[in-house]
Amino acid sequence: MVDSNDMTLRERLKDSKRIVVKIGTSSLTYDNGHINMFRIGHLSRVLCDLVNQGREVILVSSGAIGIGVDKLKLGKKPDYVSGRQAAAAVGQCMLMNIYSQFFAEYGHNVAQILLTKDVVERPESKENVINTFNELIKMSVVPIVNENDTVSVDEIKFGDNDYLSYIVASLVDADALIILTDIDGFYDKNPSSHNDAVLYHNIVDLSEKIETAAGGAGSNLGTGGMLTKVHACRLAADRGINSVIANGEKPEIIYDIIAGEDVGTMFVGKR
Ligand code: ADP
Repeated sequence: MVDSNDMTLRERLKDSKRIVVKIGTSSLTYDNGHINMFRIGHLSRVLCDLVNQGREVILVSSGAIGIGVDKLKLGKKPDYVSGRQAAAAVGQCMLMNIYSQFFAEYGHNVAQILLTKDVVERPESKENVINTFNELIKMSVVPIVNENDTVSVDEIKFGDNDYLSYIVASLVDADALIILTDIDGFYDKNPSSHNDAVLYHNIVDLSEKIETAAGGAGSNLGTGGMLTKVHACRLAADRGINSVIANGEKPEIIYDIIAGEDVGTMFVGKR
């Protein structure tokens, strides 16, 4: 059976010490394109609290292009590469400024890590990145990771931050990967177009067949949609990392996830 009701699977999330959280653009911005400060504030508070609990937290945050588009009052994502890269440069700066201020309110530090695929493919730079992550975590700093949109061309792109979140989870050898989005989890059909879509609770073995239920992005600023999230979780499961796709509307849902509650869709890491 693909979707398991075995709640003991959720118990496995309880001991998660090193946690990678990914939040998507659709959770960081309102439908009108403006920044959702309330959401970012709540997320920052929860992540700081997790660090206070003695957990190790890494955030993969999208939003740079969307926030840049809003700040520059462009109306929509530019349809040419340099326009998007310029928007990302402006937006990334603003995004980090916002995170930095919220985390400072709770007495914590953040660090910016911008990656491209070539960096983690070259053994030497890969090792440097891993060492930097570990050093920051040792200092109780929360690394905030994004694709280096400003310099990335197709050849060195991760392509989407869901995949990037898997890469980060595997680089730091995370216990759990939590992907927060604008929907309750992974359904057997796209709920935006099917009223009868049913949520998967615990996926033990992800077959190609159910992966095809995952469709593209629901919002005009979102990029990967469910497909890239499910793909990232499948890769994480293969590496033995437990992951959960859940609704980021209330970032406090992270507490429920690591308490082993039945929220979102869990992809059980292979043992
Ligand atoms: P984010 O910005 O968080 O990365 P996206 O908008 O890219 O989020 O992706 C989430 C969207 O994927 C949902 O809002 C939904 O419209 C769409 N989607 C497509 N297929 C599915 C599915 N099978 N289950 C859940 N959501 C799906």
